[in-house]
Amino acid sequence: MNKTLNIFWFRRDLRLYDNTALHHALNSGLPVLPVFIFDTQILSELPVNDARVNFIYDKLYEIDAQLKKMGSSVNVYKGDPLKIWEEILTEFKIEKVYFNKDYEPYALERDKRIRNLLKENGIEVYTYKDQVIFEENEILKSDGKPYTVFTPYKNKWLEKFRDAEIFHNQIACSECFYKFKDTFPSLKEIGFEESKIKVKEYNVNDLDNYSEERDIPALDSTSYLSPHLRFGTVSIRQLVHKLKTNQTFLSELIWREFFMQILYHFPEVVDHNFKRKYDGIEWRNDENEFKAWCEGKTGYPMVDAGMRQLNQTGYMHNRVRMLTAGFLCKHLLIDWRWGEAYFASKLLDFELSSNNGNWQWAAGTGCDAAPYFRIFNPAEQQKKFDKDYHYVKRWVPEFGTSDYPKPIVGHKQARERALTEYKKGIR
Ligand code: FAD
Repeated sequence: MNKTLNIFWFRRDLRLYDNTALHHALNSGLPVLPVFIFDTQILSELPVNDARVNFIYDKLYEIDAQLKKMGSSVNVYKGDPLKIWEEILTEFKIEKVYFNKDYEPYALERDKRIRNLLKENGIEVYTYKDQVIFEENEILKSDGKPYTVFTPYKNKWLEKFRDAEIFHNQIACSECFYKFKDTFPSLKEIGFEESKIKVKEYNVNDLDNYSEERDIPALDSTSYLSPHLRFGTVSIRQLVHKLKTNQTFLSELIWREFFMQILYHFPEVVDHNFKRKYDGIEWRNDENEFKAWCEGKTGYPMVDAGMRQLNQTGYMHNRVRMLTAGFLCKHLLIDWRWGEAYFASKLLDFELSSNNGNWQWAAGTGCDAAPYFRIFNPAEQQKKFDKDYHYVKRWVPEFGTSDYPKPIVGHKQARERALTEYKKGIR
């Protein structure tokens, strides 16, 4: 057994700078060993060339290279996290363990078990808020209950934000890391292969026209921050500090935290309609139509462009996500859970809370959702957001030729069918 040390556990916070739990660990007085666990409970569900695993791997590799300059390394493990922690306990003499909080149902359950294991072994556990500005119970109504409507949540968020001290800029100090040499495993050793799909760099320096341009998919003028926020390769505090005067942008970041607290307080939304009165909707769930939607072959150009962008890049513009999701639920009457699962398998920025919240919003079954009778007209959306078909032509090269499919369903007929079925299904 080596000398006593403290451990910092990397999870969805893949950066050395302004990382709250890491900062506290480095000030703990003992050398800090950074660890990461490739969780087989999650990885076993993914294809071998999953682009998100690639991204995590690349970021860890970069972090490891930085740590190597300080004589340290990331200790990388792969397996069931509880079993891995049992293994770590036999490897090192540990006094304290530090990590940042994660609010998803699976993570809460996992962390509870690991915290218990560590405590049973006499180890102190310190956890911190890091991935959000305000966490689950910080923005509540005056009666102490969670908000389920966005605008009052946002107003309270902004009010609290005005009084808050949130900027940290904590830099990791090299002296405090545990010094050891370790070779970083290859992607193959972790059981994965290189993906052709890569996460784009984010852009936060050119968002002056964000509110005017964010809805035009062909302009590509949004920040591309979402996967970086998902895996913590950017600090939300630094981001908000830089962009706090950009009200439209800030509002989008507040949507992210709104859905996170919804998932925390109402974990049943993972499998159920937030509004249970919609439980009686009889989805058609036609498998051929679902396939056509997945492949971007519905004959509705903007829907098809969106799905092809998703399939080819792991990203889809927000305006088009709204359209494709609404189209699946309303025009095809396919259960939002099918679409949600498809997005989850493809999106580089897949985030349970945002994906579920937005899908239920599109289906009309969620908190603060658009009323069910508001059904996007794809032709109107095309006119408004891609009138010259720039976005469509980028992703659907055969558009306008005889190879392009006819519409899978007529808009008017689909609209009427959706209205009838939704009305019938309401309990
Ligand atoms: P920007 O416009 O630059 O926005 C900046 C940041 O604000 C985003 O990175 C994101 O963190 C946040 N944000 C923006 N819009 C939303 C929103 N509607 N809800 C919550 N947060 C938002 N976003 C995810 O991060 N993961 C998902 O799994 C996800 N699934 C979605 C599913 C559907 C059906 C829809 C309609 C939206 C979904 N979104 C999801 C929200 C949104 O589409 C993406 O966050 C956004 O397109 C990411 O691109 P960007 O970073 O360039 O966005």
